[in-house]
Amino acid sequence: MDSIRDILAANLDAVERRVAAACARAGRARQQVTLVAVTKSVSAEIAARLAELGTLDLGENRPQELWSKAAALPATVRWHLIGHLQRNKIDRTLPLVHRIHSIDSVRLIEAIEAHGRSGEAAAARDTSPTPVEGFLEFNCSGEASKDGFAPHEVDDLIPVLRRLRHLRIVGLMTMAAYQDDPERCRPTFAALRGLVTQMRDRAGDVHPLNELSMGMSNDFEVAIEEGATSLRLGTVLFTGLPGRADG
Ligand SMILES: *Cc1c(COP(=O)(O)O)cnc(C)c1O
Repeated sequence: MDSIRDILAANLDAVERRVAAACARAGRARQQVTLVAVTKSVSAEIAARLAELGTLDLGENRPQELWSKAAALPATVRWHLIGHLQRNKIDRTLPLVHRIHSIDSVRLIEAIEAHGRSGEAAAARDTSPTPVEGFLEFNCSGEASKDGFAPHEVDDLIPVLRRLRHLRIVGLMTMAAYQDDPERCRPTFAALRGLVTQMRDRAGDVHPLNELSMGMSNDFEVAIEEGATSLRLGTVLFTGLPGRADG
């Protein structure tokens, strides 16, 4: 197991240097960017090694997998759901997550809000209810296969957001289409930045709307240059581990 720890530490170190260099190029402070390690392709044991190395923001794209890893890992881990959340899994998922990056429909927004309302009476007896924090997922690349809102839906979303009391929209999330040259992802990221500014102008009194969840293994440096505050990295953290095709 020690070799696994060494490989992870070396990968984290290499990623950290690249993140720091991209921040420096963009004139941004390193603390403005959170690295979320996406553990969907590795076991709970390997995810636990990452947490031991101080990487405490972990992401999963399937709720059931998040439930099982959350049960196996220390409570200090902050879990991020980065994939589709079915409405029948809301009750079990929300208490476990720090943030939901993949809020992709008005029906899901309303269901998370309703969950908060139903918990209000119980919470009032206890401590004051903390709203759930999340990102709205946008499909800025126009690929039919991707989830998320279309940019033209912003007008319809504003009144929905203005009514929310139990869900705080911290910002927007997107996935760029895979490109051999990550430079070609830049327009997608710039588009998301434009959208969050537009939405903040109209709903910034009710929601922070100042974060961008964007950037994956292939394109995270460009994402940082375009203002990412949350990177979702999987592959680049696990290369070289025994048993992986890329190892
Ligand atoms: C898997 C996944 C990632 C991580 O992708 P890598 O290319 O492995 O870094 C990021 N975001 C989402 C939504 C994912 O499903």
